[in-house]
Amino acid sequence: MNAELEANKTPWHTMDIEEIARSLQTNLERGLDTSDIENRQARYGLNKLTSRQSRTPLMIIFDQLTNPLVLLLIGAASLSLFLGKTIDALAVFAIVVLNAVLGFIQEYRAENAIAALQSLSSPTVRVRRNASILEISAEQLVPGDVILLEAGNTVPADARLIEAASLRVQEAALTGESEAVDKEAGILNQPGTPLGDRRGMLFMGTAVTYGRAVALVVETGMQTELGHIAGLISNIRTEPTPLQKRMAQLGKTLAFTVLGIVILAFAIGTIRGEDPILMFQTAISMAVAAVPEGLPAVVTIVLAMGAQRMLKRKALIRKLPAVETLGSVTVICSDKTGTLTENRMTVTVLDVAGHTLELEEILEKGHPLLLASEPAITTEWESHILLSGVGALVNDAVLQGSDQTCSDCKVLGDPTEAALLVAAARLNLWQQDLQKIFPRVGEVPFTSERRRMSTLHRLQAPDASQPFHPSHKLVGIFPQPGSVVVMTKGGVDGLLDVSDRVWVNGEILPLDEIWKGRIAAANEQLAGRGLRVLGIAYRPLADDTLSAASSGMVEVSEEVENQLIFIGMVGMMDPPRQEVYQAVQTARQAGIRPVMITGDHPLTALQIARMLTIVDADETRVLTGQELAMLDETKIKEAVRDVSVFARVSPEQKLVIVDALQSQGEIVSMTGDGVNDAPALRKADIGVAMGITGTDVSKEASAMVILDDNFASIVSAVEEGRQVYDNVRKFIRYTLGSNAGELLVMFVSPLIGLPTPLIPLQILWMNLVTDGFPGLALTLEPPEKDTMRRKPVSPHENVFARGLGWYILRIGLVMAVVTLAFAWYFWSSGNAAWASMVFTLLIFAQAWHALAMRSVSESLFRMPFASNPALYAAIVLTFALQMAALYWPPLQRLFGTVPLSGSEMLITLAASLTIPLWIEMEKWIQRLPLKAKL
Ligand code: ADP
Ligand code: MG
Repeated sequence: MNAELEANKTPWHTMDIEEIARSLQTNLERGLDTSDIENRQARYGLNKLTSRQSRTPLMIIFDQLTNPLVLLLIGAASLSLFLGKTIDALAVFAIVVLNAVLGFIQEYRAENAIAALQSLSSPTVRVRRNASILEISAEQLVPGDVILLEAGNTVPADARLIEAASLRVQEAALTGESEAVDKEAGILNQPGTPLGDRRGMLFMGTAVTYGRAVALVVETGMQTELGHIAGLISNIRTEPTPLQKRMAQLGKTLAFTVLGIVILAFAIGTIRGEDPILMFQTAISMAVAAVPEGLPAVVTIVLAMGAQRMLKRKALIRKLPAVETLGSVTVICSDKTGTLTENRMTVTVLDVAGHTLELEEILEKGHPLLLASEPAITTEWESHILLSGVGALVNDAVLQGSDQTCSDCKVLGDPTEAALLVAAARLNLWQQDLQKIFPRVGEVPFTSERRRMSTLHRLQAPDASQPFHPSHKLVGIFPQPGSVVVMTKGGVDGLLDVSDRVWVNGEILPLDEIWKGRIAAANEQLAGRGLRVLGIAYRPLADDTLSAASSGMVEVSEEVENQLIFIGMVGMMDPPRQEVYQAVQTARQAGIRPVMITGDHPLTALQIARMLTIVDADETRVLTGQELAMLDETKIKEAVRDVSVFARVSPEQKLVIVDALQSQGEIVSMTGDGVNDAPALRKADIGVAMGITGTDVSKEASAMVILDDNFASIVSAVEEGRQVYDNVRKFIRYTLGSNAGELLVMFVSPLIGLPTPLIPLQILWMNLVTDGFPGLALTLEPPEKDTMRRKPVSPHENVFARGLGWYILRIGLVMAVVTLAFAWYFWSSGNAAWASMVFTLLIFAQAWHALAMRSVSESLFRMPFASNPALYAAIVLTFALQMAALYWPPLQRLFGTVPLSGSEMLITLAASLTIPLWIEMEKWIQRLPLKAKL
């Protein structure tokens, strides 16, 4: 079947691009026409893998109905039917259906919420349609589309290359080969060439690690190579999250425990001579009473709703388990630039030849560059022209708008580069002018390993007919027109390693130890102020170095970055984000350690960390990538325990840091934006990608995306994560506590000689009403005040930990004692309504119980009504339904109830209040030692 598939497929890799364009009826220059898209989508379908489909409504209904307890109930109802008790049987069926409907609605909503989150995180792609470039969701691609890709993109479909510039693609997803492959347009393969060798093709799901490309989409969705693989595994269901697994486990354990108790009760009852059939039904009702059927579903719902709330707070969850893991995070590792800081850079300092000058000062000095008259330009000004001019040329940002002082300029591109363009413009060196005289002819792109980039420029003779302009001055500094100059900018430390001369007031001197020392000292002084420092250098190329490529861009290797002439440094301010300061406090209060990991200079990093109180003001420990590389494993483990600032770190080292932290038992969240960050993002317990600056590859590797690139959003997500776990625990507290009460009442009554107070239908009703409405509403409870003031809990913590198990037993006992005493009193005094009173008492008590559970420590009277109105509505509904069960004749007949008199109702109500009173008293006692301390 596989061979057949292979044979039917078009061998795109053997066809040249024109041939493919013809067969797909597309125009490579214009792209497809938008009017054509609908037709194509109808024919080829959406570009997505169907294996990740969510559960269908039918699957949810099936799961609901095959729950073992529901099956048990259906069995019991069938038995009743067989024995001729039609009404009973129908009522049980009705309750089963109602229960299933409620569960279905909730689960369906949860599934939809999850599906919506998934489609939100689908990547976008740039495509050429109607001769212009659009950005569309990758799902919308069709065969025949022309797409534009660059480093960091995931390939969104199978495509044939039209153009490729230094293109490298990592195809591990398909071939298992982790080394990136060079790709080239125009390569034709023989039929049968293995995937890994089809170098003229791009495949869905692989990652562009370097370069740029234009490509023609040939296959989409399940027709792609990845689609074929996915097709083979499409039946795998999504893995349940750890919490869901534990809840399912808990459900099973409870079911068995209860089964034991029930068999015991059945045996005792039968021995005492009760009707075995009634006893059987009672036993089953008890089982149903005790087991929280809704638990696994509630977990799914709470997780999905938690993910939705996180989205409102700018954290997009890509993997559902992240919601719960977030609550356990103990260390948040974060990038600096853009995440902790605003990424709004402003150049404030220029440093040439060992003279540090504030930019404002330079401008105040009369600004001779604006005079634009040649004689006014001294050698000192010449140095500033060179520094800023080169900074503006070795630059991929684009300046827009050009008012006199550039106070209002808009810049597209990287903020670091934008700052350089603005600074140059303020010295009257405008990017457009510079680019005319120094057109770019080659480039070595920025990488975070080298921390620098270079461009090559061919000098043009300035137009003599134009009036003198400062940028003309720059020409004089370099050799004659026609020659090529390398311009480089990057981290100062690294740049000094590849420079051997230095520019000093118009002279080029050897870069000796004295100069190196002076530059390094100035660099450290600037970094110590928290400034980001970039070094700038250049070198004229000997003419023959660059082959006669006079037109178009050439590919240049990193080798050109050597024997450079160091010009100077620029220092730029990047203010810390306002809201991060608060978020750091919150994190620390919550027992979470924030850690900064940056590619920037150690002193810059340390200073920003101090400003944000990530470290104390007198902290001096900072570990650089270089130092890290020299430590052995045990030393690294020791270091990560208390060093909180890591600088000049390469992406690969992020993985080392995550590993070391995890080996210390930490639950680690790690941010990243680049292609190389993907391994660390995958390894971290919570990989966090940047929504704005992040690459597709980093997003795909992460569990969560922060849409605003803001550290504060990670902390908010942690808070939501804790709340999710809290609310699941509240639900367990409430349902299991109440169920324990019901079970004890049913179990003990016959032992103390009391007739069984509740009939099976009443128990089923009770569970439907109390778990279904107040129980679910309880999961809507907003976070408690102390959510972010306690230590993180281990993700492996037992659900019953921290007193929860004891609470369930305690409250069950209290409820049983109150109910049994109440029952005994009214039964022995011969009150005909005693059983209906007990039935009502238990329902009321549970409704109050839910209310008191709003907070596990705070007094109910301090909980604002408005923060969970749904719960109050649910309680009113519960009371109303119980009134119907007591006073509406059809339900009276069904449940065998008698109407209560006014005073009986009041007494029942009063007795039910003992439950919330007891809980409030417990909470009060728990708060006592705290009060004493204050
Ligand atoms: P962070 O980890 O704080 O986000 P980056 O990885 O962006 O820092 O930058 C690390 C270092 O790389 C900077 O300190 C700087 O030396 C260098 N650098 C950053 N952007 C550029 C750029 N556009 N051109 C040249 N060098 C750069
Ligand atoms: Mg960065």
